[in-house]
Amino acid sequence: MLLSAEKVAKHFGSFRAVAGADLAVEEGEIVGLIGPNGAGKSTFFNCIAGDAAPTSGRIVFAGVDVTFAPAETHARLGIGRTFQVPATFEDMTILDNVMVGAFLRHKHRGEARDRALAVLEMTGLKEQARQRARSLGTPGRKRLEIARVLATGPRLMLLDEALAGLTPGEVQRAIELVRAIHAQGITLVIVEHIMEVILTLTRRVLVFNQGHVIASGKPQDVVKDPAVIEAYLGRGHAQARG
Ligand code: ADP
Ligand code: MG
Repeated sequence: MLLSAEKVAKHFGSFRAVAGADLAVEEGEIVGLIGPNGAGKSTFFNCIAGDAAPTSGRIVFAGVDVTFAPAETHARLGIGRTFQVPATFEDMTILDNVMVGAFLRHKHRGEARDRALAVLEMTGLKEQARQRARSLGTPGRKRLEIARVLATGPRLMLLDEALAGLTPGEVQRAIELVRAIHAQGITLVIVEHIMEVILTLTRRVLVFNQGHVIASGKPQDVVKDPAVIEAYLGRGHAQARG
């Protein structure tokens, strides 16, 4: 098991944003995480990536208990996560933004630069490498956020709505990018509202609602689960899928 999160809880005062969630991921999997806004998905990612300490529970990655370790430890071990609101340095070039990620594993500037350029090539941003990050539109920003994380050399990538706000054509290209990342041997957990992305890319999904995992299984089965339709998908979706 690459990642094992057991009974993870994150409370803010008396509010239970994550109320005891389990997630086990095998190396090589692509797992989907869906659920309504406010369900606790991003907070759960924060706990797994070390951006927030859980209130309770246990998180083991690659055999190491990282439950209360700092984010740096998670990154070094190979947990990379994109942020829903991209963590971009707006006035730096796209290349420099990606180099920030590459410095995690490359001390020398030249090596970090080579790594960043390879990632920019893969993510389709190489042509714009010398532009400032602020010049990018939505699809470019989404790619840059993925590129920054890829440059850190992750074994596990947590994508937090990394495809949100894209047009259908851009979503298709982003799906190809996710496939290419997976083909490099990177395991993925994907938070995404676009059900087509979840159905296309994952073989297993968990459904979050009010801090709890209310369903899990094959995406085709989960979208037919009455509790999931009630909490998240709504009747329109259920009818559309028969
Ligand atoms: P999701 O990603 O599923 O939309 P979040 O994890 O962002 O949900 O948020 C879950 C709940 O926790 C929301 O009600 C949100 O307002 C709350 N929350 C998130 N972060 C904090 C925080 N730092 N302090 C207080 N409440 C928070
Ligand atoms: Mg979120």
